[in-house]
Amino acid sequence: MTDNRTATGSGARGPVLFIYAHPDDESFGAAGTIAALTDRGVPVTIVSATRGEAGEISDLELATPETLGEVREREMRDAMAVVGVTDIRFLDYRDSGMAGTPENNDPRAFVQAPEGEVVDRLLRLIRETRPETVVTFGPEGIYGHPDHRFAHRVARAAVLAAGDSRVGSDAGEPWCVRGLSYNAVPRERIQRLAQRPNGPFRSLSPEEMAEMGTPWSEITTVIDVSDFRERKERAIRAHLTQVGEGGPMSDMPRDEVERILSREHFVRAPLPWDDGPPPRDLLDDLAALYPAEPG
Ligand SMILES: [Zn+2]
Repeated sequence: MTDNRTATGSGARGPVLFIYAHPDDESFGAAGTIAALTDRGVPVTIVSATRGEAGEISDLELATPETLGEVREREMRDAMAVVGVTDIRFLDYRDSGMAGTPENNDPRAFVQAPEGEVVDRLLRLIRETRPETVVTFGPEGIYGHPDHRFAHRVARAAVLAAGDSRVGSDAGEPWCVRGLSYNAVPRERIQRLAQRPNGPFRSLSPEEMAEMGTPWSEITTVIDVSDFRERKERAIRAHLTQVGEGGPMSDMPRDEVERILSREHFVRAPLPWDDGPPPRDLLDDLAALYPAEPG
């Protein structure tokens, strides 16, 4: 059977293409899922629009603002080596920084890139790699980072364009992905984390907080990645300039950390070429293999 669109649940399928904005998005969001895929022989390609040049540096011994992009690229390659991925593509835009910061206006910033240009590049990549499934951010960008929201828009548009034979006749054969999913963090979890004194998201206002993450009711796919948690944790720790020595969850009880790292969440998006409910894809297979209650 050579038809890519026939799900069999056995043997290696794929590839799966993950489209993110910054080094570490992939490790926090999906390192467990990625490890589960590569263990099953599924090829994985990861796109990062930027090298995280605008982020805070956890330890000034590790990088300077000038070297940060280069250092973070290396960290991401180290992190992904832990979960079996070597195919990492950088789009070479600059990290746009958090909403309202001066970095938003840098002409090299990802959010300043013409939307059509980015969509065209991703469309070509999709037609070249012919992924079964594409994973990217949802419209909310998890916690509203402008680069995450922009990555969602361009990745979704590129998936739709890649399957449309009227688009990009010079950009390869049309390719209809089987699945498009958005990496999600439950809103309740973000709100819980934000209450911790040193936790991530602590700087968000109550208004911002109400819009963060994804409500349970919208999450379609939960994968229990406990079997891959140790590797996920090593991948996260490889992002040293972001997580520092102790990591962002260092002040949390160990059982809470393990619970957080043991679940990955996705929202399956409908596609115009589906005749009914979205067909089963690799993420559905993993969710069936490693079932988890939301949490
Ligand atoms: Zn990010």
